[in-house]
Amino acid sequence: SVFDRIEQVEEKIRAYVTLTKEQAVSCARLVDKARMEGEALPPLAGIPVAVKDNMCTKGVRTTCASKILYNYIPPYNATVMEHLNEARAVMVGKTNMDEFAMGSSCENSALFTTCNPWDTNRVPGGSSGGSAAAVAAGEAILALGSDTGGSIRQPASFCGVVGMKPTYGAVSRYGLVAYASSLDQIGPFARDVTDCALLLNVICGHDPLDSTSAPYDVPDYTSFLTGDIKGVKIGVPREYMGEGIDPAVREVIKKAIDIFTGLGAVLEETTLPHTEYALPAYYLIAPAEASSNLARYDGVRYGYRAEDAGDLVDMFVKTRSEGFGPEVKRRIMLGTYALSAGYYDAYYNKALKVRTLIKADFDRAFEQFDLLLGPTAPVTAFKRGEKVNDPLQMYMVDICTLAVNLAGIPAISIPAGMVDNLPVGLQLMGRPFGEGDILRAAYAFE
Ligand code: GLN
Repeated sequence: SVFDRIEQVEEKIRAYVTLTKEQAVSCARLVDKARMEGEALPPLAGIPVAVKDNMCTKGVRTTCASKILYNYIPPYNATVMEHLNEARAVMVGKTNMDEFAMGSSCENSALFTTCNPWDTNRVPGGSSGGSAAAVAAGEAILALGSDTGGSIRQPASFCGVVGMKPTYGAVSRYGLVAYASSLDQIGPFARDVTDCALLLNVICGHDPLDSTSAPYDVPDYTSFLTGDIKGVKIGVPREYMGEGIDPAVREVIKKAIDIFTGLGAVLEETTLPHTEYALPAYYLIAPAEASSNLARYDGVRYGYRAEDAGDLVDMFVKTRSEGFGPEVKRRIMLGTYALSAGYYDAYYNKALKVRTLIKADFDRAFEQFDLLLGPTAPVTAFKRGEKVNDPLQMYMVDICTLAVNLAGIPAISIPAGMVDNLPVGLQLMGRPFGEGDILRAAYAFE
């Protein structure tokens, strides 16, 4: 039925870069057969899952929505794919994204743009816009995205679905094409909090193949879905409710605060004083790491290679000039500049110090509160083309999500209401490895 739905709506939505129908159908048949034979099956057996096109899938093209990887077929699976296979979940296909996950609208894809299912003149958000749109449009039941500065939570907010960025180190990054390694995390998209918890159960866990993956005992996240949040202390940082937030979005969040109070939670205003520096710090740290990570695309090891180049250096230059899109080039240049000998201390090191202050803001807040609450994005889904020629405007869409990645903490976006027929997402942030507490509150609210 998911493939029937894809047939009906995909022409309008364009969520998928690659569909893997044949494999999906044969996987699903095996699950059906096992079920008929009375085999005990895990909860996600046979469930169709869409996967962002920056996760390596053995034998299935993985493009990162870039010309430079247009023909790259990984010889191995990302660890999350191995987990999906063990859970007997079924991959539907690979979803569109901003090139190398750099963007907030899916318009930086080198392939095509994806539309928001609520209004096809609008963007689905990004960079995991294809995954969010696929779940919102019923073209998948679940999806995986990656979140470096908001790329799961912001499209979840724009598309009216649940999206979660786990704690840094909670989910293996092995086989995730690296954008900014100290910020990247894979996480789930779902229609509701229960489905989100079920997918989180499958993808979390320590992985010896990722040296930044944390050794910890993964709880059953569904055990937190009790509906009881009496006495839970929730802080509302004033920096997330002030200037720059669309008043209509703020109203939806205020109503949500009343609902949480009605459920017995204790809400209070608080402060994260360094919030305004999250955006400048992020746009030094992320491009710096990206400039290093993207050095590997040289026309020799992967993907695209420019033709008629003179010598080796000329081949590198031509391949990278033709293979990368404008936003990726902008970031490689920014990052290389910030890391260069004369500027390293002034920019990169300074940004790292600011990152420490942002982390300390959260540590302090979590001494007093169990969770923090605010909007996921300052606006609802904007029109296609509206911000595409103004990178700074595009960067501003992430002002509510970036600090979470800099601090490494978990956060979820859940649908909280509508403004002019467009969904508004509510963000709940928690302590490191406090995914369970976040899900408990999200479930009670939903
Ligand atoms: N929009 C932000 C960026 O362009 C975040 C993207 C992401 O989380 N991958 O970097």
